Amino acid sequence: MFTAGTIVKVLVSNIPSAGYDYRLTAPAAIGTFVGVRVMNRICVGIVWGIGDSGLPHDKIKDVSLVYDAKIPVNDMQWILRMSEWTLIPMGMVLRLIVNIPDAFSPPRTEQLYSFNFDSNARITQNRQAIMDAFASNDNDPMTVADIQNIAHVSPSVIRTMIKNGGLIPGAQREKNIDSCIFTYQDLGNIKLNEQQQNAADTIGESIKSGGFSVYLLDGITGSGKTQVYFDSAWRAYSQGKSVLLMMPEIALTAQFMSRFESRFGAPPVVWHSNLTAARRREIWRGVLNGKIKIIVGTRSALFLPWQDLGLVVIDEEHDTSYKQEDMGNYHARDMAILRAKISGFPVVLASATPSAETLENVNIGKYKSLRLTSRYGGAQLPEITTIDLRENRPTSYMIGNVEQTGYLSPLLCDALSETLAQGHQAMLFINRRGFAPIVQCKKCGWTATCQECSVGMTYHKRIGKLLCHMCGRTAPLSKVCPDCGCDVYMRGIGLEKIQEEVTARFPNVRTALVSSDVITSRQVLERLVKQLEDGEIDIVIGTQILAKGHHFPNLTLVGIVDSDMGLFGTDFRAAEHTFQQLFQVAGRAGRGKYAGRVLLQTYQPTHPVLTAICSGDRDGFMRTDMMGRKAAQMPPYGMLIAIIIEGQKETVLQKYCQDLATAAPILHGAKIMGPITAQIYQIRNWYRMRFLVAGGTNMALQPVIERWISKVKQPVNIRVKIDVNPINFL
Ligand code: ADP
Ligand code: ZN
Repeated sequence: MFTAGTIVKVLVSNIPSAGYDYRLTAPAAIGTFVGVRVMNRICVGIVWGIGDSGLPHDKIKDVSLVYDAKIPVNDMQWILRMSEWTLIPMGMVLRLIVNIPDAFSPPRTEQLYSFNFDSNARITQNRQAIMDAFASNDNDPMTVADIQNIAHVSPSVIRTMIKNGGLIPGAQREKNIDSCIFTYQDLGNIKLNEQQQNAADTIGESIKSGGFSVYLLDGITGSGKTQVYFDSAWRAYSQGKSVLLMMPEIALTAQFMSRFESRFGAPPVVWHSNLTAARRREIWRGVLNGKIKIIVGTRSALFLPWQDLGLVVIDEEHDTSYKQEDMGNYHARDMAILRAKISGFPVVLASATPSAETLENVNIGKYKSLRLTSRYGGAQLPEITTIDLRENRPTSYMIGNVEQTGYLSPLLCDALSETLAQGHQAMLFINRRGFAPIVQCKKCGWTATCQECSVGMTYHKRIGKLLCHMCGRTAPLSKVCPDCGCDVYMRGIGLEKIQEEVTARFPNVRTALVSSDVITSRQVLERLVKQLEDGEIDIVIGTQILAKGHHFPNLTLVGIVDSDMGLFGTDFRAAEHTFQQLFQVAGRAGRGKYAGRVLLQTYQPTHPVLTAICSGDRDGFMRTDMMGRKAAQMPPYGMLIAIIIEGQKETVLQKYCQDLATAAPILHGAKIMGPITAQIYQIRNWYRMRFLVAGGTNMALQPVIERWISKVKQPVNIRVKIDVNPINFL
């Protein structure tokens, strides 16, 4: 405990530095949250230790506020180690923790609005978005700013709705609610099967004895991993520990919440990016004062100010959404494991398709694998076969009197007919949004590209426009080439094209599209899931959004329209990711009492990814894939660090990259590649160059890179992003 008057170092949130000295105005322990003045603003910081700036005492400012809250000393160590690993400055790591506005200010008086459900107004897209924003916050009243941020609607839309009575002004003051604080009990209504019980007991032993350990809960789709980690959560909770269940945003489904509630008697507290400022504050403080003990949340929930965290579960651990790629690159799974290692508690990674990184850690004995090898309740795994498109060629079909190229083979069409005749549902998977990815002139070669990004624009029929998938800009589709006046034509296929074909071939069938263009919030997704469950949809055509966590008992056929799409990706994880994706999609079929089947359309039926999917030989496939990576010294057998440099002026960017190249250190056992132009050279008018540093896993490359970059003067309007073990190579 430092006494009042002591000069301490304060790590300040959102300032990219390792801290500044201040004079304490009240006693405070290490880790105490304080308010300090930085350039005339009060910022939140934590007392890091004794001051070490050596500045004369009369130059040192007083701490403005000492709060009655602190973070555990172990987590300070975690901040430091995370900063060293990711090269995110410590103050910016702290900002991930102090991730709410006005963390410590008293409840504010602000005009709040409630949604008027009685209004007879037409359900427009905007009104629906606003309704969903309220729904994702338990219909609590919201400020205009919240509505704007969560529903992504313009202020004028909100003003109009207020005028029309669609939004009703309500309480002026933010409630200081305890609505998030629940007590849980194990209702004892779940009996684990033998494999589940063994896994649960093993993890339970670790929870009981404490200490760091990592378990891979490796179970096929539908094997009941959730109930196993619920058991672990219960054991940790009943010992007074806090528990974080992390999952990808799209897996935070109502189905999941109700499973949680029916096991524990109360709903979980949910943390994700679409919460109101008031709710975020309430949850943050509830976690800080130890009243909220269990959170189900996305990757940012790891950064809540946890007290006495005793278990982190990472569901779908292979999912790339755990990798944060803007505002500081980090991998939430890895950072959770780092946190657990420092604080000494177990981590459970759950997946049906674990990442190569995790499998390697099992191989070398760092993680312990617990396997669930059969579907719960005896449901059978679907039968998976390929359709060789070289032999079973799709026939053309007609729209009006125009002949169209078909993409659905006769075999797949027959399977669809049979499924529909049985009254079951089918899913067609194609991982490409829109109608056609390329719009081109056959005569002169003109191609529709984005003005601000160096990528082509995709035609989206639903909105009747061209859309840039990089920056979201839209442009009208002109029927003729702007350069030579000839007709333009569409190349390639997207979801909407397949929907058109399905509708043409099966005129009375009810279809639904599922892609990020349509599924704009979890509420929209829930509605769609409900429609599927209620049998209001016959064929769902979608990207991978539905590939996770859902359970549709009547869905018995999955057709993969273009299995070759991901096979020839440009980075070393392409095969792994394609395998995971197809495997997960296939796992949607036949989860109920009817057997399922999966058909993969391909021109490459002997490709190892596809033969492995068909035979279900995940382990064999991953073994071969990992051998290749070992030979190439790629992760997990080597380490990569990408340095992405972006600039608004090409000349300045090129010059800076040359200067960096000149100053590049000579490394033993590691090499620096680049600079090269990034695969996508321009995004939102920023030009992009990349370096890639490759070395062994045991090399401390980060300090070398930090020194290297700090040596070269960085011009204005240049951004440098460092990505340790990148997933994205664009
Ligand atoms: P996974 O996450 O491994 O794909 P789930 O946890 O979704 O599998 O389980 C599949 C289905 O089996 C779910 O409907 C789940 O409620 C049910 N289930 C799993 N384990 C049990 C159990 N021990 N008792 C009752 N139902 C279970
Ligand atoms: Zn663009």
